[in-house]
Amino acid sequence: MARIAVVSGAGSGIGRSIATVLAEQGWTVAVGDIGEAGGRETVEQITAAGGEAMFTRIDVTDGAALEPWFAEVAERWGGIDALVNNAGINGPIALLEDYSAEDFQHIIQVNLVSVALATRAIIPHMRRRGGGAIVNIGSTASLQGYGSLSGYTAAKHGVLGLTRTTAIEYADIPIRVNCVCPGPVDTPLMQGIYEAMSPDDPSVAREMFAQTSALKRYANAREISAVVAFLLSDAASYVTGAAIPVDGAITAGV
Ligand code: NAD
Repeated sequence: MARIAVVSGAGSGIGRSIATVLAEQGWTVAVGDIGEAGGRETVEQITAAGGEAMFTRIDVTDGAALEPWFAEVAERWGGIDALVNNAGINGPIALLEDYSAEDFQHIIQVNLVSVALATRAIIPHMRRRGGGAIVNIGSTASLQGYGSLSGYTAAKHGVLGLTRTTAIEYADIPIRVNCVCPGPVDTPLMQGIYEAMSPDDPSVAREMFAQTSALKRYANAREISAVVAFLLSDAASYVTGAAIPVDGAITAGV
């Protein structure tokens, strides 16, 4: 029987890659995204390749919308085995004193509160199933500070704290919860950072990020997805509460 995974922010970048790799490995995938065109395209790509997927337009900050989404997925396919909390944004690239309170709250809502809301909403489904696995997409910014990205970094540190806490709280079901911490992947999210950091020539900032990794290159989104798929699989049955950097040794040190 196919196992069922829910992936948020799967209309672009890393989330699309995760949904695609899971489908290739036989998972049935519920794709959620605030962007309708990207989400539908992900589903089309999966179904064209012979996989099974459905799209739901969802804003992950809207807690009231998450429960009906999960209920629909569970009703359609018989249950939910896995959740990937991937949707995320950069927020302002600015010093903290130049953040408005609204900007700061928004990035925390999208990148952190959403993870708590989705995790809360999925627990009853996984309890009914007798277990499950959750992967939260953190960042190297879950593990170290980044100047001019205080909101993002605070949220991503929070994602790791939430990962560790929920791994402890729901181990009895058991639900395993892990945090994948990617280094730079050349997605639309990173494009926004290049443009803010070097508006005259975004390729300068693009190259700078490649050099932060000991491997001197970006990760391919599939290199992140492979680790997510492992963590959702039974092969990772004793891995929970972990932060797994997939970062070309960025956080290993200098
Ligand atoms: P992306 O911009 O390519 O994709 C993000 C997706 O999330 C988009 O499809 C967007 O529409 C969706 N989204 C944004 N806000 C949403 C909301 N409120 N509700 C539902 N969907 C929403 O970005 P990406 O690079 O693929 O990032 C995916 C995740 O990976 C994020 O959590 C990001 O912080 C994390 N990450 C990315 C990198 C990187 O270098 N790209 C590095 C570390 C961590």
